[in-house]
Amino acid sequence: MLKEVRNRKFANGIVYALKTEDDYPLEVTDTFLPYYTKDAIGKKQNALTSYELGDRTERWMIGVSCMSGCPVHCKFCATGQLKKFRNLTAEEIFEQVKFIIDKNPDYDPKKAKEFKINYTRMGEPFLNIEEVKKAIKMIDEIYPNTHHYISTIGIKGSDFSWIKGNITLQISLHSLDEEKRNWLIPFYNKYSIEELGQIRTESNLKTTLNLTLVDTSDFDIEKLQKYFDKDKFFIKLSPINENAVSEGNHLGKGVIKGVNLV
Ligand code: SF4
Repeated sequence: MLKEVRNRKFANGIVYALKTEDDYPLEVTDTFLPYYTKDAIGKKQNALTSYELGDRTERWMIGVSCMSGCPVHCKFCATGQLKKFRNLTAEEIFEQVKFIIDKNPDYDPKKAKEFKINYTRMGEPFLNIEEVKKAIKMIDEIYPNTHHYISTIGIKGSDFSWIKGNITLQISLHSLDEEKRNWLIPFYNKYSIEELGQIRTESNLKTTLNLTLVDTSDFDIEKLQKYFDKDKFFIKLSPINENAVSEGNHLGKGVIKGVNLV
């Protein structure tokens, strides 16, 4: 059983700090957004157009941890503050989803216009992929309308053949400068930028390329065009969520500062 340690509310959701039975910390997020923010491709951005934030009947997203801690130690990630890590079991991943659903008895995931599990909190999913796959099966059995969104740095030798239908892949690219990317994501056994461009899935959606650009020197349109087919990849620019680790590495917010409501 996971135990709740504390939580922090924000305008469109809550983040919970939990502990496993053997006292490993992890976090899970419960967020929602208006449904129109889903059309990021059509609108070229997914900024809010008003202060109306919708509720869990529209886009309901649960961000789960696949590990407690993480051995990758990205330069912008607060997970690096934890000294040790361990893979979570499929049951522990599934339990995070149950935990959030049980916290919201007035909402039904089956009635949400979009119910999405983001494998984006603590841990690199592909370093624990068999348990992640089992958790996906467990969730799909009860909530077949779930969209699973798995974010990876691109671990060498990963099998992407099972990423199909309601399962979508996000790749943490962050910089188009190989050396800078290696510094930001200091894990040696990962695909090069060119190799990432060769990844193909059978998802209903394009693979997302996530770019937390630290500064403009991380962007290279020619490399982007050369390696990433626009029909297979969707580019997402996101800000850095500032934390003690990112500040210690002097990364700031990145080039995306957020968008003003109009
Ligand atoms: S792989 Fe993900 S969880 Fe691990 S350090 Fe990098 S950003 Fe953090």
